[in-house]
Amino acid sequence: METSGVGLHSGAPVKLRILPAPAGAGVVFRRVDLDGFEIEAVGRNVARVSYATSLMKKGVLISTTEHLLSAFMGMGVDNAIVELNNLELPILDGSAQPYVEMIRKAGIKRQRRLRSYLRLRKEVEVREGDKFIAVYPAEKYSVAYSINFPHPLIGKETFEVELSGDAYCREIAAARTFGFRHEEQAMRNMGLIRGASSESCIVLTRDGIENGPLRFPDEFVRHKVLDLIGDLALLGRRLLGRVVADRAGHALHTALVSRILRDHSLWEEATADETASPAGEGPEKHQGTAPAVP
Ligand SMILES: [Zn+2]
Repeated sequence: METSGVGLHSGAPVKLRILPAPAGAGVVFRRVDLDGFEIEAVGRNVARVSYATSLMKKGVLISTTEHLLSAFMGMGVDNAIVELNNLELPILDGSAQPYVEMIRKAGIKRQRRLRSYLRLRKEVEVREGDKFIAVYPAEKYSVAYSINFPHPLIGKETFEVELSGDAYCREIAAARTFGFRHEEQAMRNMGLIRGASSESCIVLTRDGIENGPLRFPDEFVRHKVLDLIGDLALLGRRLLGRVVADRAGHALHTALVSRILRDHSLWEEATADETASPAGEGPEKHQGTAPAVP
């Protein structure tokens, strides 16, 4: 499984390859341009977070991990090695759809080990000004996200989804990231979107959209859900809990991850045997999975 493109923020050309990994390995990024240096996709490696989520270990960076990690989580892939020959994942079409298609093409292999979940025992809330994110104990993984952008096509949007069956692939994966034309120059000057183009995001003008049509009428909030799922994947295990977010972003998503991982009294590890079945899935689906050999 291989794809290539440019990083949204760096503009750097990059080749990406997804390989199977043994049960229990989790998702590991490997910089093939740096002697195969590996960075695990877990909370302790979260580096700076602004317009995207970056991981760093011993000074080595992997940027914009959220869309691929979101696709893995949405499709139930627990273990994978992701090889990159540069510092940022490709933005592709700005959604997780190309990754979903790659993984589908390769197939998913069930592994002989029970999947391990992170089950919330107590509520955790993080607030910053008018931004808010929380997770509450629940036997399933669900997300409810609200945004409020002063734009005629957006305004107040709320989207709620339970991550079971193929809900992710149907309702979330194709939602693209978005940007405002009037902010473009300032962001380019700051070096934040060197790889941006109208192929890789929804471009909004002050009162409309430049490169329509939208894939969903509420594509914006769905993309926020996509990002959130990708950031919470850094918990390192599938979450059992109900996440509620209001005008949050990568910084708040990853702050929640750190808060949870820092305090083990907030959660417990559970395996498939002890957990409720997501709707429509047989018990074998709960075993760890990795992409099949490409
Ligand atoms: Zn995004």
